[in-house]
Amino acid sequence: MPIYEYRCQDCDNTDSFFLRSYGSPAPSNCRHCGSEGLNRIISAFTYVKSEATKRAELDPKYHKMVDQALAKAPRDSDPDYHMRNMVPFSKAKSAGEPYFKE
Ligand SMILES: [Zn+2]
Repeated sequence: MPIYEYRCQDCDNTDSFFLRSYGSPAPSNCRHCGSEGLNRIISAFTYVKSEATKRAELDPKYHKMVDQALAKAPRDSDPDYHMRNMVPFSKAKSAGEPYFKE
């Protein structure tokens, strides 16, 4: 059963309620102060983030860590290593020639 969170606009407390569906009637009163001013808030668990948002939220050190890991790894594990060594088809001497220079 889905859980919905509500924030009381009077006392600012939040509470979770089990509702049968999104269209179910909202809980009528705040459990803390009895106010009727409850606003549904989007739960962090059900909110689906876009890929761009996830990337923006990555640790700022992430890219540095990747660079450091690549520096320690064997050089042919860097995808750019293979890109730099690729030979265009137009320069390949015959069919069946390896795509990578030695
Ligand atoms: Zn309240």
